[in-house]
Formats: sequence, C-alpha cells, structure tokens
Amino acid sequence: QTSKLIAGNWKMNGLGASLAEVAALRAALAEAAPTCRVALCPPATLVERMARAAGDGVEIGGQDCRAETHGAFTGDISAAMLKDAGATLVILGHSERRQGHGETDALVASKAEAALAAGLAPIICVGETLEQREAGRAVEVVRSQIMASLPLALAGRDFAVAYEPVWAIGTGLTPTLEQIEEVHRAVRAAMIERLGLGVAATPILYGGSVKPDNAREILAVPEVGGALVGGASLKAADFLGIIRGAQ
Ligand code: 13P
Repeated sequence: QTSKLIAGNWKMNGLGASLAEVAALRAALAEAAPTCRVALCPPATLVERMARAAGDGVEIGGQDCRAETHGAFTGDISAAMLKDAGATLVILGHSERRQGHGETDALVASKAEAALAAGLAPIICVGETLEQREAGRAVEVVRSQIMASLPLALAGRDFAVAYEPVWAIGTGLTPTLEQIEEVHRAVRAAMIERLGLGVAATPILYGGSVKPDNAREILAVPEVGGALVGGASLKAADFLGIIRGAQ
C-alpha cells in the first residue's frame, strides 16, 4: 500500500494574505510528520509564493493547464509555466471545468499529455451528476470518463485519479461508504483495462464534501488512496484534521 495523497483544491479562493494558512500548515506538519503525501493547488497567481511558503512537506499543484505548450491563448496557462512556478502536480478535468468551460474527455486527455511532457503529475477528475446517479448510471459514466480522459502516455508515470461525484461537491452530501467503494473499484478496473496492471497502486482520490469529521472513515474505504478537498483545505486547522484522518 503506497502512502495516501491528501490534496487541497483552493479553486478561486486565496490572496497573498491566505499564505498565513500555509505557514500554519507547514509548522503543524513539521510537528505531526504525517506519513501521507500532502498537496495544495492554489490559483495560478499563488503557485510560486505558495511553493516558497509551503516548504518541502507540501507538494504544489495548478488547477488546470492548456494542452498547447505556448502561443496566442489569452488568459490561459501552460503546464511548463506551472512547473516553472514551482508546481509538481496539476488538477485536470475538474467538473467545474467540464461543466463551466465545456471541457471534453478528449481535451482532458490532451491536457494530461501536456502535463506529463512538462514533468507535472496530473490529477484527473471524474464523477457523475445527480441525474446520472439517480438513473443508476454512476459506474457507467465514470468508466467511460476514465477510458477517454486517460491518455495511454500515463502508463508508467506518476499521476492520480480523483472520483468526485458532482452532487457531493460543496453540498455537504457524500455517497455512502459502500457507494464510494463500488465506484472506486470500477475506476481501478477501468484504469487497468486502459493502462495495464502498472496502475494497480496509482492513487484514486475521493473528493466531495470531505471534512475532518468524515475523512477517517472515507480514507479507510478499500481503493480510496487519498482525498481531493475543496472548502476544508482553505483553513490549516480543517485541512490538518483531514490529514490526521489519513494516518
Ligand atoms: P468540496 O470539498 O468543497 O466539496 O469540493 C470538492 C472539490 O471539488 C475538490 O476538487
């Protein structure tokens, strides 16, 4: 069993002043010496400063990147730019981008290829909507997202998948532990079908309303290799509570 990955997604939150939370997290981690990996994914404007503030104990990630390496793409950011700023990871295909920016599985796959080429480890997000869940299609939807969003170039590379049911994000709702296990097992099977047995230990993170008080039981579910945390990653005390749940 490889160590779990607890990653925070700050989304469009955080200004320079928020780096105080990162300093507090760094100090607490130095004490707690957790056995899990810890990562924070701030808005692009904070990547470089956060990488400095966080120190060696916290990996830094972007929240998206462009598939192209450079050029006339106003407002976009490349994987190499994130790497240059100190990131080692990048979240790709988050439902807020799939829904709000029309990102398709094919686009997510090409972004993942760009991330790998720049030396970043992608965290590729999948997850069903409430409508799909209620229609009994959660496993089928997630499987098809895995098959089409994971480029073959991921074989043998460092990456993670995050299962984030859209209806659990920012709602305080979570699937049952049985439902989480069912989808995570299906994700693992699809990953192996797509990329081979080399991905048998690649972390599959759960995301969606992870809090200090439910983290421990979720992280103990078979095939849950970590968590992708939104709101509860913004405050060091909450995020630490989740990190403790991974021990
Ligand atoms: P919340 O933890 O705020 O529900 O967000 C989850 C998420 O979308 C992480 O990427």
